Amino acid sequence: MKDSFGRNIDYLRISVTDRCNLRCVYCMPEEGVEPISHGDVLSYEETIRLARIFASLGIKDIRLTGGEPLVRKGIESLIADIKKMPGIETVSITTNGILIPEKFEMLKAAGLDAVNISLDTLNKEKFVKITRREGFEKVIEAIKLCEDQGIKTKVNCVAMRGVNDDEFASIASLALDHNICVRFIEYMPVGKNDFTKCVPTEEIKEKIEAVYGPLEKINSEGFGHGPAVYYKAEDFVGAIGFISAMTCAFCESCNRVRLTAEGFLKLCLQYDTGADLRGPLRAGATDEEIAKIIEAAVAQKPKQHTFNDYFGADDIDDRGMSKIGG
Ligand code: SAM
Ligand code: SF4
Repeated sequence: MKDSFGRNIDYLRISVTDRCNLRCVYCMPEEGVEPISHGDVLSYEETIRLARIFASLGIKDIRLTGGEPLVRKGIESLIADIKKMPGIETVSITTNGILIPEKFEMLKAAGLDAVNISLDTLNKEKFVKITRREGFEKVIEAIKLCEDQGIKTKVNCVAMRGVNDDEFASIASLALDHNICVRFIEYMPVGKNDFTKCVPTEEIKEKIEAVYGPLEKINSEGFGHGPAVYYKAEDFVGAIGFISAMTCAFCESCNRVRLTAEGFLKLCLQYDTGADLRGPLRAGATDEEIAKIIEAAVAQKPKQHTFNDYFGADDIDDRGMSKIGG
């Protein structure tokens, strides 16, 4: 599928739930968010049907996210069924990792290709402050398990001033002896949160270089489909990546669209533009009709986000990250 700027859209992120077992400060309010009622969430069959239609339109890689995708019952069957679809090359998940140890065998058997595990600190007490829940040891166990068992593993760390900016080098060191990729994400103003804690990539990089020496840019091929830029530090087995959503627009090469748990096709992280697919699906639309709605929406994909200009702008989607899936 091509959008109106000639970008090839071949990557779909599906949020399978807006529910979560954590309450990360940058993503959700402490009391959580009003969950979408079960009837409003796409059923398993609806998700599979839409995934198949997307695959027929050229989507090759699907990432399941949330909320926390591993709290959704039957997630392993969803992975296995999507993985078998003609045209689909990889199925991956973005997860907080807490439930990986208990679900690992099922996920592996389902054919999961890769995991991104979110971890913003190596300090157990700070973990509780950031996520407002326990679970640090499970996340560490999850990272080790995935790497040991040969699942491609990335660690996502949201960089926050005054919260984890004293830890960037030690978090990066997870990639020192292990074949994982540690990625630092600039804090984004999604859902109108306290993004002023954002630490720019350059500063994160300098802090890591002060400990491990110069970072050398490497080819991003083989690291997946995202906007991250990757580096190697001397003697590191793994890699270090940066997702510079605020300081560097990467939209020129954007290849993704998102499907929310309610079946809304979201075209860009910033804006609320897109198309409702659940309505037509439940009203009995054929696959061809739904495919046409998807193609028409993709043609409207915005050229770029303007998070980097965001100071008081009012065109940020009200949906928080937990409703969008990151
Ligand atoms: N629950 C899963 C997790 O935490 O990995 C998947 C959903 S979460 C919304 C997806 C990703 O978005 C996570 O890596 C999280 O750290 C990141 N994220 C959430 N809010 C963010 C924000 N305001 N700025 C930057 N990244 C954010
Ligand atoms: Fe849950 Fe992920 Fe949001 Fe944290 S970032 S509250 S783990 S959805």
